[in-house]
Amino acid sequence: MDIYPITYIQVDLDAIAENVRIIKTLIGPHIKLMAVVKGNGYGHGSTEVAKVAIENGAEYLGVSTLDEGIELRNNGIKSPILIFTPIFPEQGENIVNYNLIPSVHSLDLVSTLNKIGEEKNKEIKIHVCVDTGFSRFGLFPDQVIHFLNIIKRRYKKIEVEGIYSHLSTANTEGHDFTRKQFEVFSDLLGNIKQQNIKIPLAHIANSAAAVKYPEMRLNMVRVGNVIYGQSPFLKNNDLNLRETWKFKSRIVSIKNIPKGSSIGYNREYIAKRDSVIGVIPVGHADGLFVDFYENHITVKTLIKNLIKDLLKFFNHPIIQKRVIVKGKSVPIIGRVSMQHCMVDLTDYSDIKLGDEVELPVRRVTASSRIRRIYFKNRQPICVEDSPVEKGNEALVQTSVPGGLVVGKD
Ligand SMILES: *Cc1c(COP(=O)(O)O)cnc(C)c1O
Repeated sequence: MDIYPITYIQVDLDAIAENVRIIKTLIGPHIKLMAVVKGNGYGHGSTEVAKVAIENGAEYLGVSTLDEGIELRNNGIKSPILIFTPIFPEQGENIVNYNLIPSVHSLDLVSTLNKIGEEKNKEIKIHVCVDTGFSRFGLFPDQVIHFLNIIKRRYKKIEVEGIYSHLSTANTEGHDFTRKQFEVFSDLLGNIKQQNIKIPLAHIANSAAAVKYPEMRLNMVRVGNVIYGQSPFLKNNDLNLRETWKFKSRIVSIKNIPKGSSIGYNREYIAKRDSVIGVIPVGHADGLFVDFYENHITVKTLIKNLIKDLLKFFNHPIIQKRVIVKGKSVPIIGRVSMQHCMVDLTDYSDIKLGDEVELPVRRVTASSRIRRIYFKNRQPICVEDSPVEKGNEALVQTSVPGGLVVGKD
């Protein structure tokens, strides 16, 4: 038996399952689905997401680093796993030991892998990465045929199972660059075919491209965002994707303060009336409002930020950050601190000490220290091996006495 910690993340495995089925249905039975579970499954927990994705039709998994791939294998995941980040030749041994698929753009790595393959008498699968305009990893298109021919001639233990590229702008509104990247990739695939080189898998589409441009699905798509309920469409959610994530905590203190009091660091908020202030034990260290640094300054972003700052200055409700308590949207006031934030409860007399709060903490900024609690059929399930739960005995001590009980599955 176990009890909920005060602050936790509720991950809805049924929603993840349904989102996987939605994308699988959309692409149809002949196109393979790679579920991207990098970054700890976009914060949800990579092993749990991987299991659900596979159960619901994903054939491949994608992660960034070798370590993430090894973690999945150690947790019993058997599906093919592609590693996106280039590995060093000295990591080749682990690729083979854990049966992972590296992304390759260097002959040094190919040569080392081939040697390992000869020693162990094993075929080693690789996917060749092509740079069609992202300028991160990969060969330029005009280097690929030569590269493939050398592999074919010299490195008999290497099987080029796939070839892929990554799109830069599929998530944003303009279509031109996405189309251009796809065109470059398609031309290359045409040339490869002409040379009579056979590669079973070709893939370029992320979530947005897989949804928006059916022709870019080729024979596999690599999707992350849609699995986690984030629609590639900015406005309406045509896909009916389900929400997978809720960040929850509780009100741990409520106090009455007189009009004119300043609240929190830097006196950023002054009470205009006698007020009731609630405290939630969640702050920047937990990932609340950790904003990414915007270093691409355009006139548009400058104007946007200026308007934002003006609205903030006048305390306009549009810019007001809020949490949800008992179905009501309650304003956060004052500056968020390391592990606390404060809310104005003056207008909400039915909100009491200990009430549950839902906070807008982004998936990728949420601290990995915060425990994930998995729900299946609306019931919390016990996840024995989850890395975020292991060694977290301290959480039990901070749990709410007499709080909700989580049964073992
Ligand atoms: C993250 C990633 C994806 C998935 O992108 P989404 O927009 O989340 O679908 C696909 N391919 C690569 C190489 C990635 O790094």
